[in-house]
Amino acid sequence: MEEAIRLIGMKNSDLKKLRDRDSWCWHCGTEQGLVPHHRANRGAGGSKVLDTLQNVILVCAEFNQAMESDANVANWARDLGLKLSRYASPSAAVFDNYLKKWFYLDEKGNRFETEPPTYLI
Ligand SMILES: [Zn+2]
Repeated sequence: MEEAIRLIGMKNSDLKKLRDRDSWCWHCGTEQGLVPHHRANRGAGGSKVLDTLQNVILVCAEFNQAMESDANVANWARDLGLKLSRYASPSAAVFDNYLKKWFYLDEKGNRFETEPPTYLI
């Protein structure tokens, strides 16, 4: 993880908060081999504007790869807020598939359990 995590443009203090918040994969719960995943993709420009504690989550490399290469996984991740359209707000709720609970992420590196989004009820 140390190697991969340097690829994102976060301050060291924010990286520490990210690791403290996301000590397991949002998909499977593993604590090994976690990599940063941008919920809203940075796109071709690679803007660091999206390197925020609301937009970046840690997932295992396998799931990160699956979201990139498998349209079904990508759609599933979109339904659960793990992936966001570029124009969606990163304050949108995100599903911890390991805990089976929805969370709201704030800009300071906290996660708060929240209700499922209304469009899923
Ligand atoms: Zn995983």
